[in-house]
Amino acid sequence: MIIPEQEIADLMTRAAAFEAVESVFAAMASGDAYNFSVVREAIGHEDALYGFKGGFDKAGLTLGLKAGGYWPNNLEKRGLINHQSTVFLFDPDTGKPSAMVGGNLLTALRTAAASSVSIKHLARENATVIGMIGAGHQATFQLRAALEQRSFEKVIGWNYHPEMLPNIEKVAREAVLPFEAVDLPGMVEADVIISITSAFAPSLMAEHVGPGTHVACMGTDTKGKQEVEAALLARATVFTDEVAQSISIGEAQHAVAEGLIEQSDIHQIGAVINGTNPGRISDDQITLFDGTGVGLQDLAVASAVVDLAVEKGVAIEVDF
Ligand code: NAD
Repeated sequence: MIIPEQEIADLMTRAAAFEAVESVFAAMASGDAYNFSVVREAIGHEDALYGFKGGFDKAGLTLGLKAGGYWPNNLEKRGLINHQSTVFLFDPDTGKPSAMVGGNLLTALRTAAASSVSIKHLARENATVIGMIGAGHQATFQLRAALEQRSFEKVIGWNYHPEMLPNIEKVAREAVLPFEAVDLPGMVEADVIISITSAFAPSLMAEHVGPGTHVACMGTDTKGKQEVEAALLARATVFTDEVAQSISIGEAQHAVAEGLIEQSDIHQIGAVINGTNPGRISDDQITLFDGTGVGLQDLAVASAVVDLAVEKGVAIEVDF
């Protein structure tokens, strides 16, 4: 089956992405699914970063990989988006390829679904104010998905480049919610904070986060990147998609390196979904989700899109 990139927007829904990501996080925590080691290479051509993220979900019978990366000159030179990825799925019974699926929009949807899953399972039920740090491409997807999880009454936002804030203000207005640009100390008003930037130095400090807040750190997916002060992780109960990635390429890499927390302090979100970890246990506890982005998320949403494409008769079938 081939599902071209341009078909994905009409096929995939936020609800289907949420369900796929929640299920695969649960399968990872129960030992039914695992991610393969990530390959990421600077290929020495067009300044591109190229790599593979793969895995196998025995519960969902999903096997495959996402191949792709970042081509920084695409937009300027060719009018193409800089992030390019494709998901390849294989039949786990035979090893035969089963699908090739456009992965660009799916990446945004699965990343937004991850923080949304964390909000469902870790944010206070009575959360009313959501704070956004970041206003780039991913931020709009993040906010749209998050707004579905609680009865939010207000969106507040801060961005390193303030001229980009209208991107998230637009999403708030679409949801008929007031939007207010704040400075970083103003984030203390938020009950849920999503951070989705490409920063290499922290913006959100521990003192900017009030008791009872849930923080989803979604931007840090590479060694060296950092969005929040390491001390915040020491103050919070830390959850992640994949502990090995959290301590190596995720937000927790810094707190672990500084000796503020240990690997054993980081919990899999899937265990909360499965009910083997209680998750939030008090209203004044700070919970923090370190969303590093795993291959299994990509495979899960790609597999869901293949089912939807077959159902709607738009999958291109090739005898291969
Ligand atoms: P983008 O280029 O569209 O936006 C970048 C954002 O980072 C903007 O809000 C920008 O103002 C902000 N920013 C840039 N420099 C900064 C600095 N020095 N300090 C603070 N903020 C700064 O990028 P995007 O596509 O929205 O991606 C954002 C981040 O999310 C990237 O780091 C990307 O690698 C990461 N990402 C993570 C996952 C995951 O699964 N965790 C998935 C996709 C993307």
